[in-house]
Amino acid sequence: MDLYTEGDPIADTRAPDGPVETRWERHRFEMKLVNPANRRKMTVIVVGTGLAGGSAAATLAEQGYQVRSYCYQDSPRRAHSIAAQGGINAAKNYRNDGDSVHRLFYDTVKGGDFRSRESNVHRLAEVSVNIIDQCVAQGVPFAREYGGLLDTRSFGGAQVQRTFYARGQTGQQLLLGAYQALERQIGLGNVEMNARHEMLELVLVDGRARGIVVRDMVTGEISTEMADAVVLASGGYGNVFYLSTNAKGCNVTASWRAHRKGAYFANPCYTQIHPTCIPVSGDHQSKLTLMSESLRNDGRVWVPKAKGDQRSPREIPEDERDYYLERIYPSFGNLVPRDIASRAAKNVCDSGRGVGPTGLGVYLDFADAINRLGRKAIEAKYGNLFEMYERITGEDPYEVPMRIYPAVHYTMGGLWVDYDLQSSIPGLFVIGEANFSDHGANRLGASALMQGLADGYFVLPNTLANYLASSGPLDKVDASHPEAVAARTEVEDRIKRLLAINGDRTVDSFHRELGQIMWEHCGMERSEAGLRKAIDEIRALREQFWQRVRVPGDGEGLNQSLEKAGRVADFFELAELMCIDALHREESCGGHFRAEHQTPDGEAQRDDDRFAYVAAWEYTGTGEPVLHKEDLTFEYVHPTQRSYK
Ligand SMILES: Cc1cc2nc3c(=O)[nH]c(=O)nc-3n(C[C@H](O)[C@H](O)[C@H](O)COP(=O)(O)OP(=O)(O)OC[C@H]3O[C@@H](n4cnc5c(N)ncnc54)[C@H](O)[C@@H]3O)c2cc1C
Repeated sequence: MDLYTEGDPIADTRAPDGPVETRWERHRFEMKLVNPANRRKMTVIVVGTGLAGGSAAATLAEQGYQVRSYCYQDSPRRAHSIAAQGGINAAKNYRNDGDSVHRLFYDTVKGGDFRSRESNVHRLAEVSVNIIDQCVAQGVPFAREYGGLLDTRSFGGAQVQRTFYARGQTGQQLLLGAYQALERQIGLGNVEMNARHEMLELVLVDGRARGIVVRDMVTGEISTEMADAVVLASGGYGNVFYLSTNAKGCNVTASWRAHRKGAYFANPCYTQIHPTCIPVSGDHQSKLTLMSESLRNDGRVWVPKAKGDQRSPREIPEDERDYYLERIYPSFGNLVPRDIASRAAKNVCDSGRGVGPTGLGVYLDFADAINRLGRKAIEAKYGNLFEMYERITGEDPYEVPMRIYPAVHYTMGGLWVDYDLQSSIPGLFVIGEANFSDHGANRLGASALMQGLADGYFVLPNTLANYLASSGPLDKVDASHPEAVAARTEVEDRIKRLLAINGDRTVDSFHRELGQIMWEHCGMERSEAGLRKAIDEIRALREQFWQRVRVPGDGEGLNQSLEKAGRVADFFELAELMCIDALHREESCGGHFRAEHQTPDGEAQRDDDRFAYVAAWEYTGTGEPVLHKEDLTFEYVHPTQRSYK
């Protein structure tokens, strides 16, 4: 293809072999340790205080490292993880319903449409059980059932109930647990917390990650912070689409700056479109709201059988309703994975049977569950979600079905990391949603919290120690090192350049237009023609951005337009790479649905012979990225056409 060149294949050289269930244990034993007296002399920068970064910073400090922690919010506990609603998976098998580490491993590899690494996913499933113990010990108030055991519920892509939850606020409760652990270490002086600081550049010294350049978002001061290693836990990039369920601040800048410095970006086109979000209501909106997947435990999804049926839902009799997920996928019913449920919703709406003012909506109906279990039981499980829905739409979901439609929610792509969570830059580790790791082409619900906490509490503390122990004492470097000075100058120049344009369009207007291009051509369905068009449009709009964007104010203090301008500039570059990645992957898998590649009944059609690899992209600065392929092999879960029927 004309848009990129192909480079050498890449291998995950840290991946252990042998029986899958022994790999992590053996690897952990074989890795080197840093003795406690030496840990005190080492500094680690952790960018991000969500579940991944918060848990990592707390754990590393608890082990004795000096940690510098950064976030752009005013408090570490406002990280976007706080928004997570439905739950966290773990293979505890408290229900005795057939769950096991192997089943969670199997479900996750299959759920990701065979585009993730078996070794990583198995480790994730193993560690999942430790996470629940850790969080319970911290006092996280998981829901409990009558006998006092932790309660669980179902999430998509699984036939067991392995999702632990705290009403519809699981992320908040888990983050408070991690935050308390972090605060304890801040209090002890082992973590230096830098809230309202934005990382704008990565500093490499002799090819290793040794620091970051940050801007104090309140005073505008730019500073360079050096360390022995850098950990990015900076979250996902769904906001490239402008409208998404992510918090408004979520952005790609930390990852993208690292990418420009040499960290490969893997599978950027793998985006998760979540089926149950409140539909878009007009151009005024700047964000979308998720209705947790947990609601599909009790809510039934349907549309009228007849096209253009305008009756109110309660007037439509049972035999004139199409419970299409239960009809098409009888084994999993309303709990099919997100990619499948989203496409099915799109299909029924495209066929003219969508509901609501725009026709882009389907019903999520709780009438049966309320009749069966009573309103109180439904309130106890989902009360806060029902309240949120009513506040936004003015409709009472206890009385009328919710209206939902798919929206951008999560990004499976991210910086490429090896089994040790180290990027292609030595000393740069990437955890949580910011890395590409364990979810393949489609993440199963309740698995992001599991991965973030697995990375932060249990994996990184081992693998980072191994890196530090194996690297020997690194040279002491400070902000006056020429490479650090150069990185700082890049940041200053970029800010000056953005401020100097003084054009006639707001940053938001560019971001909104970019989002529309992405949603139209790189969203739920992609095609060669659409992606090519998108690339042209993105390039033209990016050029306009650098000529016409208006960033009022200066860089000397709080300036939200300046913050946004830097982030949108990076989104432009990422968007192009996403489209190139989507264009080159001439197959459908998980959330990546190419119109040209579908089975006769409209399901994703993988091409394992040509595309069973991770696409790791190298930045070259010339506009033509280089593709490195990491082949995926499957010894335990053999690739088949995914079926939830
Ligand atoms: C509405 C919603 C509900 C969800 N519900 C669930 C659920 O029920 N179960 C589940 O498993 N998953 C859920 N998810 C997904 C899950 O919440 C996220 O994937 C996960 O919380 C990401 O955690 P993280 O630690 O990787 O990143 P985040 O929580 O996004 O944290 C990113 C951190 O990085 C910092 N940061 C970023 N860039 C910079 C920078 N340049 N400089 C300094 N700091 C920076 C931010 O300040 C923040 O502290 C949900 C997602 C959404 C949107």
